[in-house]
This record gives sequence, C-alpha cells and structure tokens, in this order.
Amino acid sequence: MAPEIGVSQNGAAKSRSQQMTIERVGELGIVGAGGGGFPTAVKLGTRVPLVIANAAECEPLLHKDKELLHHLSEPFLRGMIQAMEMVGAPQGVIGIKEKYHDIIDAMRQDAPKSIRVAPLPDSYPAGDEFILVHIVTGRVIPPGGLPKDVDAMVANVETLMNIGLDQPVTEKYLTVAGAVRNPVTLRVPIGISIGEVIEAAGGATVDDFSVLLGGVMMAKPAAGLDVPVTKTTGGIVVLPSSHSLIQRHNAKWPVIARVGRSACDQCRFCTEFCPRYLLGHPIQPHRAMQSLGFSPSPAEIIAGTLYCCECNLCSLYACPEDLDPKNVCVESKPAARANGLFFTGTPESVTPHPMADYRRVPMKRLISRLGLTEYINVGPLIEHKFAPKHVVLPLKQHAGAPAVAVVKTGQQVNPGDLLAVPEEGKLGARIHASIRGVVRLTPNSVVIDA
Ligand code: SF4
Ligand code: SF4
Repeated sequence: MAPEIGVSQNGAAKSRSQQMTIERVGELGIVGAGGGGFPTAVKLGTRVPLVIANAAECEPLLHKDKELLHHLSEPFLRGMIQAMEMVGAPQGVIGIKEKYHDIIDAMRQDAPKSIRVAPLPDSYPAGDEFILVHIVTGRVIPPGGLPKDVDAMVANVETLMNIGLDQPVTEKYLTVAGAVRNPVTLRVPIGISIGEVIEAAGGATVDDFSVLLGGVMMAKPAAGLDVPVTKTTGGIVVLPSSHSLIQRHNAKWPVIARVGRSACDQCRFCTEFCPRYLLGHPIQPHRAMQSLGFSPSPAEIIAGTLYCCECNLCSLYACPEDLDPKNVCVESKPAARANGLFFTGTPESVTPHPMADYRRVPMKRLISRLGLTEYINVGPLIEHKFAPKHVVLPLKQHAGAPAVAVVKTGQQVNPGDLLAVPEEGKLGARIHASIRGVVRLTPNSVVIDA
C-alpha cells in the first residue's frame, strides 16, 4: 500500500503554514539524502539559474528515488519549486532514467512549465553529480569544482521531498535488496538498526550473509546488524558472505597493493572506462597503479587521483585482472593533497573524451559483471509499522562537524523534538528525535529507549 502523502508515520510536526526559507530548511535538519549528507541550507545559499533533481539512482538494485517520484510526487514537486525559489532559479530539471516511462509521463503532466524532465541513459554512474550535470547541461564541472561553477544546483529527490514535507527529518526512505525474501523500499525511523529493517524485508535468504550500505558499487560494508540507519542510508544490500562483492569490499590494503604491483599489465582499461577521465578530468587510474612500484610515489602519476570520485567502475567492472585501481587512487589522495597536486588548468581546458557517450556502462551489463543477476531487481514502496525498542542517532550523520546534544540523559522526548544542533561556527545539521522515549547520551550518539 502506498503511504499517504505528507503523513509522518511517527507523528512528527508537519505544519505547512510557514513559508519555506533557507533558515527553516536548516531548522528541519535537512541534508543531502542521496549519500553526501551535505547540509541543504548551506547549499541553498547559492544563487544559480538551474536546479537539477537527481533521480538517476544508478546503484544496482536500488529503487528508492523512483518509488518516491511515483508515490510522493506532490511533496517532491513542492520542495523542488521551493528550492528553485530559494536559489533564484527560473528553471528546474528532473534527471531520471529513460526506462521509467510512466514516471516521466506523470512528471511531465504534473510539473509546472518551469520544470522539464531529462531522460537519462540506464548506465552507471549516471547519478554522479558531474556526469548528471554534463548530460543535462552539456557543461563540465571543472576538477575539484561544484555544480554552481556551471550555474547549477543538484539535489537528490528525497532531499527536495523533505523540503516539501516541511517537517523535521526523522525518517528515511531506503531500498532493502539482494538476498532478502521481499526486496522493498521502506520508510524507517532514523536510528533503527539495519537488522530490524532487513527483517521487515522478510529477512535474509541465506544463513551466512553480509550487508553493504548505500549500494554495491560505492558501498560501505556494515560492521554488524546493529548499525543504525542514518539520514544518508539509501540502500541496504544483503549478500552471501562468500559473494565476490563482499570479498572485494573487505579486501585489505596490503593485499590490494601486493597483487596490484605484480599483476597490473598497464592495459589501460581502468582509465578508458573511468567516467571522470572521459569527462576530461586529469585522472588516469592506470598511472596511479604505477605508483605501487615506488616509494614515495612520483608526483606526476598520483596528481590526478584527487579527482577520483570513487565510483569503483575501474575496480569492479573494467579491470580484467580484478585489481583495485580505485583503492590505489584513494590511498594516493593524501600524498597528492599534501604535495599540493591540484588541477591548475582553466575550466575551458577540460573537454570530454570523444568516446565518452559510447563508453557508458549499461546497467544490465554491470549487474551481470557483478554477479547480481539472480537477485530480484525491484523495490516497491510498502508501508511497514516499525516499533523499535530503541534508536541510535549518531551525532555525525552529515557532512561537517558532529552535532552537539541539547538534551540530557533521562529526558523524555517525542518524535520531532530537537536533540542536537551544529557546533557554533561549524558546518553541520540539526538532529531530531525519531521515536518517543527516554534519552541516553553516549559520546557519539543520542540513544532513545522507547
Ligand atoms: S585495468 Fe587493471 S590491469 Fe589494466 S591498467 Fe588498470 S589496473 Fe592495470
Ligand atoms: S573509482 Fe576508478 S573509475 Fe571511478 S573515478 Fe575513480 S579512478 Fe575513475
């Protein structure tokens, strides 16, 4: 059953009488829900002529953004219009995979004339801001730059919906996928354990399983089933512990470096498929692989690693030897940064590779290469009533500094009550109670016992 639009499961305040302002977005604790967690109020402080809603959702098996556009288009469109007003943008674009014809038709019918739909190829990584902006506008964000550098602001569908809902962020939408009985998209109270969410999807279909958070490409392996859902958890993917993706994500650096040093034949496939290299950025992962043979690494071969977006396409798709150039780039970044190896060219000097449009990796081929074809690739949004015994709200679940608690142990709170605020003068976001209960403070979180 589809959820009722704008009605919070936990009863948090949802007044829409206030005019939406940047200050109010900050009060509500809205952050980038697509994974970045950047405080939205700060992002809205920029004046740009174009707002792009990112509905590309290119992580295999995830369906949250598409489901939100299908079931909650009203608060999404309201939030998008409000975001456009706040940044002074006369134009908006919804970037969504071209295969979702029904949603594209509905958006074209419901959206005002100032908002158009841009159908996107069903490829990875279409949801990367740099790729999305290039597909939508034809312009390339310079290395190390931001969408505002090419007169745009990009926001995830759920982020814009949260603006439209005009209530404290106490719930998260996410897809539970992979080796679970019922792959679904759910609305869950922030701070609930991922184990409880997996149970709501029917539980795992195998006894020995591991969990990837956020998807399978840019995943973070979960440390355990008691890890809490945060404002940026967009997907929970369950896989057998023996699955190659789990092995790859858990690989240790000494092994990655040793195998890479001996097995890389410099075929360049990692570079030729790298989406940032294809955009014209100065990243060449095959060059970074050469750094494994040197200590310290020569500057010219690690310089571009700062512009690796960690999409993992080189490691999990392109490399025929199953090496890990992505992690080699990640490991090189601190040295590149310490040596000031930043891009010094002009934005005009960045021109996409002539083959860029032809080297996009189709989603079907990626799913096959990743060994995921046996898993059901749907995630319908369903209602599920959660009643957690407690929730754990980390003080850092956003970009910037950890928030500072404004409640005390033993204090009774209700959904939507303020728990923590940004540290004075630092980037951060407010955190609100997601259930009714009694507060227990820990060094890094606010626990609420129901
Ligand atoms: S694709 Fe693999 S083998 Fe080829 S250059 Fe890159 S890391 Fe080396
Ligand atoms: S992870 Fe690999 S493919 Fe992706 S941007 Fe970095 S180097 Fe390029």
